[in-house]
Amino acid sequence: MQAEANQLIREAIMKTDIKGLTLQELKELIVSTGEPGYRADQIYTFITKGIESLEDIPNIPKKLKEKLSEIAYVSKAVVYQKLESKEDETKKYLIELDDGNIVDTVLMKYRHGLSICISTQVGCRMGCKFCASTLDGLVRNLTAGEILGQIITVQKDAGERVSNIVIMGSGEPFDNMENLERFFELVHDEKGLNIGYRHITVSTCGLVPQIERLAELEIPVNLAISLHQTQQSEREKIMPVARSYSVEELISAAKAYSEKTKRRVTYEYALIRGVNDNPQTAMQLAKLLRGSLSHVNIIPVNEIKENDFKRPDMKKVREFQNILISNKIEATVRRELGKDISGACGQLRRSTIDNKS
Ligand code: SF4
Repeated sequence: MQAEANQLIREAIMKTDIKGLTLQELKELIVSTGEPGYRADQIYTFITKGIESLEDIPNIPKKLKEKLSEIAYVSKAVVYQKLESKEDETKKYLIELDDGNIVDTVLMKYRHGLSICISTQVGCRMGCKFCASTLDGLVRNLTAGEILGQIITVQKDAGERVSNIVIMGSGEPFDNMENLERFFELVHDEKGLNIGYRHITVSTCGLVPQIERLAELEIPVNLAISLHQTQQSEREKIMPVARSYSVEELISAAKAYSEKTKRRVTYEYALIRGVNDNPQTAMQLAKLLRGSLSHVNIIPVNEIKENDFKRPDMKKVREFQNILISNKIEATVRRELGKDISGACGQLRRSTIDNKS
């Protein structure tokens, strides 16, 4: 069984994943087989709708399917588990990839439509102390087709178009920059999912060179920074990435990004009792962000069994928020969706792979 799976993976590696191609590239691939390029439109449409096998695409000549399947395949993103909130309409998915790895994807319903939170890596090597996704380190990067595949699969399951994307699931997106850039191109394709850049938010723990690279791309995606501490030495204690890029460098890169793109930067701030929830820290944060196009998203920390971090009480959370607001910094407290099903990001996946192995 394992040998068979390995054989399939080896074959897949040597072939091109159609989900990872733009329409133009698919056309070129088809033409290279001696078949007419116009067939690409038909195939592309069905793959965008969630068909995961060339065999299942109707009205395509058998000869083309045979030729194409010698050089290409469609990567799978299968719903391994789905949890639905009883409190709101949030759904949490565990998506299984071709090699058996599993990633988290969350679908949230807002007044303005469906929003999806997707993963870019299996695991993560960034080591943030409050995060369950990093506890086993990085397993591997997702390909662009696999990042896109989460949206296609969940959209098909929901039977409704996803209009907003948040790249904030497991993994550090900027640690998988090449595939991320490719994903931006694919998801924006008007013949594909056709999601505007302004409806995409990418979140980073603070990889400064990649923030600069994103600015160079000149696409107006929204940037979110997982900040969580204002003091350099304290941030290093909970986020090892801070040892490579200081708080000042990070904020200055984020400010440059917003100046260039005219997009407001969101600063994610997980509030941890007794660690970063004091009024002085709120004041420092206000000072750091003063005058910039920014917004602070305060997130009372998710409590996970693997560490002792506790969430502050709501009074403390509001006090923190009010200090920011009174210093003219926009600040909101994240509304918790799917509280009854989610737990911390990465936790469901961890408990599932423990049971799977
Ligand atoms: S918070 Fe994000 S960057 Fe940090 S360890 Fe978790 S997944 Fe990685």
